[in-house]
Amino acid sequence: MTYFAPAGTVLHLNDVARGFCRGLYAESSATELRAVLRRVSGLPHCWEISSARAGMTVVLGAMRSLVSDVRRDEVLIPAYTCYSVPAAIVRAGLKPRLCDVDPNTLGMDVTALRNADFSRVLAVLSSNLYGIPNELSEIESIARERGVSMLDDAAQALGATVHGRAAGSFGDAGLFSFDKGKIICTIQGGAIVARNSALSSRLGTAVDELQASSLCETLVNCIKLPIYAVLLRPTLYGAVQRLPFLGLGKTAFDTTYPISHLSKPQIGVAVQLAQRLDFLNGQRRVNAERLTAALQNLRHVVLPAIGAGVRPAFARFPIRIVDAQARRDVIRHLNAIGIGATASYPSCLADVPEVRALLPQSDLSMPGARSVAAQIVTLPTHGYCPHDLGERVRRGILECLG
Ligand SMILES: *Cc1c(COP(=O)(O)O)cnc(C)c1O
Repeated sequence: MTYFAPAGTVLHLNDVARGFCRGLYAESSATELRAVLRRVSGLPHCWEISSARAGMTVVLGAMRSLVSDVRRDEVLIPAYTCYSVPAAIVRAGLKPRLCDVDPNTLGMDVTALRNADFSRVLAVLSSNLYGIPNELSEIESIARERGVSMLDDAAQALGATVHGRAAGSFGDAGLFSFDKGKIICTIQGGAIVARNSALSSRLGTAVDELQASSLCETLVNCIKLPIYAVLLRPTLYGAVQRLPFLGLGKTAFDTTYPISHLSKPQIGVAVQLAQRLDFLNGQRRVNAERLTAALQNLRHVVLPAIGAGVRPAFARFPIRIVDAQARRDVIRHLNAIGIGATASYPSCLADVPEVRALLPQSDLSMPGARSVAAQIVTLPTHGYCPHDLGERVRRGILECLG
């Protein structure tokens, strides 16, 4: 049976082979990758790194080292985002604090952010969930007013823009991820971008001091790359999606990841894909348009709000189904007909035990984030999706909800 994976990047074996060859010329491929990411982000500084969470730990450490007030050890994050975000904060020796999420935009609730207690906040983070860059200007101006740093977490949003300005370029520094479900894929990997500032010189030093990717990490990632390239194909993915060694679709709070440079062969593959970024995101946008058209006015289905001037990258297409039983049924049925619908991150961060233990009482009530966690359904957008994706999803939803 054909099965369209929940998320991913169309990667050909050819790209993997060429990427590995490019990686032999490490200096020039790193230069090329940085050039593409500078062009996409519009920022002058770029460093590739072993993962976005590694980059986050490095950036937060650099931010901390530039602030004289040692009590500023809190990082304010959306209450519904990837679990790696609070993990990276803990790894940096800092404390997560939560800001509620607006279920319509899936980004920070700007009113809640305005009312947050900033007295010990070091930095505020965006999420650009599913590649939709909502509220970035508001977060940036609130951070500026409050005199705290902003890190624009565009892990899922490489190539998304707001009025022409790139997701990842708001605030003081930005992050992109090259993990398996993101916009481009090197199995693990990511990049930091930054504008000219005291922070960027500090980051330059911090990244220079990192170690090379271990031989073992590099080998594992390089072996997984051609496997990923082959298995993402709809004719194969259905059979293999449960293979545990691929770690597909799992989200865990883990602070033990390596923090190192990205390996040379992975840099080569990143260049191969980054050069095709506009094409890859173009396919995702077309699929998002197809889903929007097909699911409009469908009972039970709430489409995401996309702000004026926002051009998402759509790592996935998020809808909400308010009724809990209907949502479970839809996810089960869409998967049964070969469409990788998922319930995304299972909980609001206030309900993840490792995070909850670190939160003040005032951060435990996150009604917006809890309803997102209970209602979200993500749909695939990648280039392997069929041209009648919208119709298939619509029919699937109608078949099970009537
Ligand atoms: C995936 C993701 C991260 C972490 O990226 P890695 O490269 O897997 O470390 C951080 N933030 C968000 C919003 C993500 O989706």
